[in-house]
Amino acid sequence: MESGIDAIRINPGTINNVRKVKEIINVAIQTNTPIRVGINVGSLEKRILKKYTQPNADAMVESALYYIKMIEDMGWQQLKVSLKASDVLQTIEAYEKFSKKSDYPLHIGITEAGPIFSGAIKSAIGIGILLYKGIGDTIRVSLTGNPVYEVIAAYHILRNLGIRKRGINIISCPTCGRCKTRITDIVDVFEREVSYFDKNLNVAIMGCEVNGPGEAKEADIGIAFGNNKATLFAKGKVIKTGIPKEMALEILKEEMYNLITNNYSNN
Ligand code: SF4
Repeated sequence: MESGIDAIRINPGTINNVRKVKEIINVAIQTNTPIRVGINVGSLEKRILKKYTQPNADAMVESALYYIKMIEDMGWQQLKVSLKASDVLQTIEAYEKFSKKSDYPLHIGITEAGPIFSGAIKSAIGIGILLYKGIGDTIRVSLTGNPVYEVIAAYHILRNLGIRKRGINIISCPTCGRCKTRITDIVDVFEREVSYFDKNLNVAIMGCEVNGPGEAKEADIGIAFGNNKATLFAKGKVIKTGIPKEMALEILKEEMYNLITNNYSNN
């Protein structure tokens, strides 16, 4: 803090010593450093655990309110709060209960959510439900794996809640008997290639020309694969047929650029 950090997080339960917590708060006050009070269900103080007999949402809320009061009494209010648990429902309950008792900004997330796939789902449910209810000001997706996936998962959560509208939203079908092209690989390649796009666009990659354009009619632009050729469509309407499969992605990207450029020159 004396070196000029923007903010700190403390977990008072882990420090487990009021005198030491107060020492930290004093330095935060002197250095004008905002604090996140980070309550974790796994490290609640003994006093609280004794009262509730087991770690639960009410115990987390009481612990948070206790430390907030202590910090406020010392004259500091640059605070935000997190109430973390790895159990999704317990996390939601804790944040809901806390938000009824306090207006401090909330940093939300499911802690130690697990491996990338299951952890992202847990985080999407927990963070998604809370944000949908209007609870939460900043988010963290916590996954075991490359942290890049935490950012990608967070982006998808915000995007699907309509909170952030930047970047490509890929619409792709699950494939069925009509599909004659291995679109799973194509979608993977496409997703990597357009990850840097920051313009808001719905782009479809569909497994057949018969139903693809109609099933993805909300797409701004899309490609549907036939036997050896592909069809380009926009908002459900076919705009180009007979595209050689191997050129399909290039043409799709070209059209995306055109669409973005036109939209911007029209605005
Ligand atoms: S778009 Fe075609 S291939 Fe994909 S699920 Fe629909 S019918 Fe099947």
